[in-house]
Amino acid sequence: MRRKVRMIKKLKEKRIARERIRVLFDKAEAVFSNNPSLANRYVTLARKIAMKVNVRIPRDLKKKYCKHCYKFLMPGVNCRIRVKDKTIVCYCFNCKKYMRLPLKGYKTKSEKQNQKTA
Ligand SMILES: [Zn+2]
Repeated sequence: MRRKVRMIKKLKEKRIARERIRVLFDKAEAVFSNNPSLANRYVTLARKIAMKVNVRIPRDLKKKYCKHCYKFLMPGVNCRIRVKDKTIVCYCFNCKKYMRLPLKGYKTKSEKQNQKTA
């Protein structure tokens, strides 16, 4: 019985952590244009929370910070985003490194044409 209580507590903890991570990333985005260092601080906090309770940072949020230097990324401001061979290639201006993310759920032009002919 005690074990079950502990499990429920842990799940609740994780849910709250996910919520907090989302809020922190929203805030980081809002504050970035005025105060980039505060945005970076929010990213660090979100990452710390995720590591503490052992939850993953959602995929849509993962592309919002650099995986090398953990800085908040704003496309066109401090990072360059290109699509190549079904992957998103993101070049960070802070540490000058690339990070690659899979481009899932999208179809390339040739694939669409193949579908039409088939
Ligand atoms: Zn970087």
